[in-house]
Amino acid sequence: MFYPEPIAKLIDSFSRLPGIGPKTAARLAFYVLRMKEEEVIDFAKALVNVKRNLTYCTVCCNITDTDPCRICSDKSRDVSVICVVQEPKDLVAMERTREFKGHYHVLNGAISPMDGLGPDDIRVAELVRRLGDDTVQELILATNPNIEGEATAMYLSRLVKPFGIKVTRIAHGLPVGGDLEYADEVTISKALEGRRELY
Ligand SMILES: [Zn+2]
Repeated sequence: MFYPEPIAKLIDSFSRLPGIGPKTAARLAFYVLRMKEEEVIDFAKALVNVKRNLTYCTVCCNITDTDPCRICSDKSRDVSVICVVQEPKDLVAMERTREFKGHYHVLNGAISPMDGLGPDDIRVAELVRRLGDDTVQELILATNPNIEGEATAMYLSRLVKPFGIKVTRIAHGLPVGGDLEYADEVTISKALEGRRELY
């Protein structure tokens, strides 16, 4: 390494982030060097706090700083519908539409045999536990419209069949192979509206 150790260490840290190559990592590290000290301290605190102060909601498995999370504690929301999404950012995309007033379940991943990820690697058991009483009437599967998302939706629909709950899949106004988080509000609203029953 040609750089002094502290900056080399920072470049190395940045380059571990997704989508950041060595050149971008160096650019970011030198940017930090030019930042005001209090800005750097705020930035460092934000990094540490995201790890220390966030946990997973024991009900819906979304990331949260209160347990249960704000959505699970919101008495005005419809407890009879659960919308199942892959990631916390997908929940945010759904919330942005302001169309959905039910509850969520965040799988924190998808079934992907190619990557060696099965049902035990995502929050499936937690979802099944929520279906034990007769509260939930409909499960909306809003996993991504790609191979992993479809495989996960298929697996879940078969798994919850014995519960006699209505299982729907969001419509494919969504671009196939895309991610829910990148879809605009109108597309997500339409996809939600056009959901169809899986069996
Ligand atoms: Zn929650």
